[in-house]
Amino acid sequence: MIQAWNRVLAALGAKIGAQEVERWIRPLRPTAITATAVRLQAPNKFLIDCVSDNYLLALRESVATVLGPRQVLFEVNDNLQGELFPLRSLGRPPGEGGRPAIGTLVPKYTFANFVVGANNQFAHATARAVARQPGEQYNPLFIYGGAGLGKTHLVNAIGHQILERNPAAQVAFLSADTFVSELIAAIRRDRTDRFKERFRLVDVLILDDVQFLAGRERTQEEFFHTFNALHERRRQIVLTSDTFPKDIAGLAERLRNRFEWGLIADIQPPDVETRTAILGKKAECEGIALPPEVAAFIAAHVDSNVRELEGSLLRLGAYASLRKAPLTIELAKEVLHNILKDQHPVSADAIQTAVCSQFSVRLVDLRSKRRTRNIAVPRQIAMYLCRKLLQSSYPAIGAMFGGRDHSTVIHAVTVIERRMKEDSGFQATVERVERAIAER
Ligand code: ADP
Ligand code: MG
Repeated sequence: MIQAWNRVLAALGAKIGAQEVERWIRPLRPTAITATAVRLQAPNKFLIDCVSDNYLLALRESVATVLGPRQVLFEVNDNLQGELFPLRSLGRPPGEGGRPAIGTLVPKYTFANFVVGANNQFAHATARAVARQPGEQYNPLFIYGGAGLGKTHLVNAIGHQILERNPAAQVAFLSADTFVSELIAAIRRDRTDRFKERFRLVDVLILDDVQFLAGRERTQEEFFHTFNALHERRRQIVLTSDTFPKDIAGLAERLRNRFEWGLIADIQPPDVETRTAILGKKAECEGIALPPEVAAFIAAHVDSNVRELEGSLLRLGAYASLRKAPLTIELAKEVLHNILKDQHPVSADAIQTAVCSQFSVRLVDLRSKRRTRNIAVPRQIAMYLCRKLLQSSYPAIGAMFGGRDHSTVIHAVTVIERRMKEDSGFQATVERVERAIAER
């Protein structure tokens, strides 16, 4: 079996290079070669992910060449004494650049592929500054924003650019999730010293999704010391999160405090122009012929986040190419039917109707200026929900309720918010209405 495996490695070496094989594939241990499959054990999940992402195709092909077509299966064996993270050798020949010392970067997440709009301009500018002069200006750089808005893309771009300028730079890029699981593995194997040392030697540490550290006391402790060691030596730290540091629940005060030491930049959802530009860029990257009017149509209707936007485009592109049909608005309507329906489910009518049925009041009364208490509270709830779900302006909401003044609406929203905080029964009621609206 070992002989057969060595022949696979040799064949693979011819494809991806002997160095890569030594670094990534050699730490895998074959445990069985059957008529249908090759089973490999890895010292950690991280290695499996790296190999699956980067070398799986080449590995399958080499297996097929040497042994005939077989599945390649992986499993973790904690007892294997492999490298925690395959460490990039120093002083590697130039031209091979772009590879972090710890973790992996997504090749296409570069600054060149990132569309700048009003929503991400500040985060983008600070990311560029950090990539130009790591450790100098903003340390740490903390980028936060909702899911699918480009945080991971932007911080990958920082990693790429630093490595492009200085291929010898020791860059670590990983998600806080991976940091947690690798630390746990290190603790189990009694190798925490090695773990610490690895991280304290890097020039740049990019930790994606630090909200995953929430509630992980031991990891936070470890990360706290890593942070200090790097910061003292003016090594660049870049962090991302789905919320502002203060709002990450279950994060130790001293870490939160450190996260606020440098610069905090947010990414907001893109406006329609930026969405159109992003679609154009993606279409170009994916080789999809996207007419401007179709781009405008998708951008106008898909506004949740960039990941969905991208998903819609890819799906549409796939349909058009399968049907060998041009990309038209008609096709977009047909293919994106379900997405479009989900995108704009809520209207003022829907909110008012749901509130009325919850509280058994009449729509005409809700929209009227009557002030009796049994209608006043449902009306305030409806206003609050219009603000929350439609993000309409206060005057616009006033207009939806029989032409009330915007100050009345502001008051309603404030009252409901306060009461929801204070009264969990009331909060449950409002949430029930909200669910009814979503499920209608
Ligand atoms: P997050 O990490 O904030 O959840 P990602 O960085 O994973 O979001 O972005 C989701 C997808 O949207 C990725 O494919 C990314 O390339 C794309 N994306 C987000 N923002 C932009 C942008 N401004 N320009 C180009 N692509 C973007
Ligand atoms: Mg992300």
